[in-house]
Amino acid sequence: MTQVVIVGAGPTGATLALLMVKRGIRTTLIEAAKDSYRVFRGEGLMPSGLDAIAQMGLSPMLESIPHRQIDAWEFILGDRQLFRVDEPMGSNRPCTLVSQPPLLEALIAEAQLHPEFKFISGVPVKDLLWNGDRISGVKLADGREISATLVIGTDGRNSIVRQRAGLDLVTQEKSIDVLWFKLAAHPRFVADNVFYSILNNGSGFSVFHGAEDGKLHLAWVLDAEDKTDRKHADWAETFASLSPAWMAEHFRNSQDTIESPMRLSVVVGRCPCWHRPGIILLGDAAHPMSPVRAQGINMAFRDVIVAANYLVPLLKTEANFGDIDLALSRIQAEREPEIIRAQQLQAQEAWKGEQLRNNGFVRLLMMQVAPFLGDRIRQFWVKGQYELRQGVTEVRLIV
Ligand SMILES: Cc1cc2nc3c(=O)[nH]c(=O)nc-3n(C[C@H](O)[C@H](O)[C@H](O)COP(=O)(O)OP(=O)(O)OC[C@H]3O[C@@H](n4cnc5c(N)ncnc54)[C@H](O)[C@@H]3O)c2cc1C
Repeated sequence: MTQVVIVGAGPTGATLALLMVKRGIRTTLIEAAKDSYRVFRGEGLMPSGLDAIAQMGLSPMLESIPHRQIDAWEFILGDRQLFRVDEPMGSNRPCTLVSQPPLLEALIAEAQLHPEFKFISGVPVKDLLWNGDRISGVKLADGREISATLVIGTDGRNSIVRQRAGLDLVTQEKSIDVLWFKLAAHPRFVADNVFYSILNNGSGFSVFHGAEDGKLHLAWVLDAEDKTDRKHADWAETFASLSPAWMAEHFRNSQDTIESPMRLSVVVGRCPCWHRPGIILLGDAAHPMSPVRAQGINMAFRDVIVAANYLVPLLKTEANFGDIDLALSRIQAEREPEIIRAQQLQAQEAWKGEQLRNNGFVRLLMMQVAPFLGDRIRQFWVKGQYELRQGVTEVRLIV
């Protein structure tokens, strides 16, 4: 019998599976998608996530796949630069964009070198198996049943594992969706990869060079109620109307390269309880994260480290169910404070963005004071980023 079934091979599931099999734990990883390129995957890793990668011994893997650092953050309000902050902002590593599909493939390929690992892809888990009140495995959509000592739900924000286990998710009020575009990069982004946040007249977007060569990523913020037609014919002109002259010219010249956008729903929330006998949720399944300031993947890696610290020693010695279930509550207790704080900070950042986007008075005020107080505003912003970049609690891999 497999010891652990992990449902979902996103950043949480793929990394945890590798950590487990490297430590001799028999692990089956199940992924619904046929290949990891089919699902939208964020790219931003903060210093806290890069530190987690280093602790897991995965920095050489990261070096071998497409990645690109952010050189600076710049805010543009109306036609003015509010401020610019250069990376690494006092950290030992700059914020880095990492192409997730190759990262997930590399994690799985490395796990496959271990005889303890089994990977099933292209078949979703559709239900859980029960033995009395304890969850004892999963049922796949093709009818297969897999028993396990422990089921780990890492199947993302719409987690079926969470629903079938009867674990509640309390969501924050929905405020934004994101239209995600890709288009040809301007050489200026290649030389100096600035993450621009541009806000004007009720509209706002971020644009930066993604991990993949030659591609800009552009995230256009929509109020959740906004039914904007994504096939809107004139996106180039819309972006250009908000941008500095050189960027506006680029949007107009690259009109033909703008790919049809994906509408991504932003769900933010937290399960009051992440576990029950025989099962735990980690990553977005337990606490779906907002895209603001790239937290979700970083939190996922840090969940993985804490889960491994508690579970590996128990699973190596075939501990009893009582000890395993106690460890599940300890994992939540250790991770929850950081998740609560990160979600609060993300909400504050989102609120500031919303005020600048939608409140003409606030925008005008900021534009007036920027020439005199720009440096103060910049320092205030940098101070507010510390926990979002470094993490809130100490996370150390000890197994
Ligand atoms: C627009 C947007 C941009 C973002 N950008 C960033 C960013 O730059 N940096 C960052 O840190 N975070 C970002 N995030 C957040 C980040 O994407 C998530 O927090 C992170 O992906 C969570 O990882 P996960 O492994 O827990 O879940 P996911 O990445 O959602 O992975 C879950 C996996 O489970 C699989 N699955 C689902 N159901 C089943 C099933 N029934 N059976 C088997 N498999 C299943 C899915 O196919 C998927 O592969 C962004 C989020 C959004 C919405």
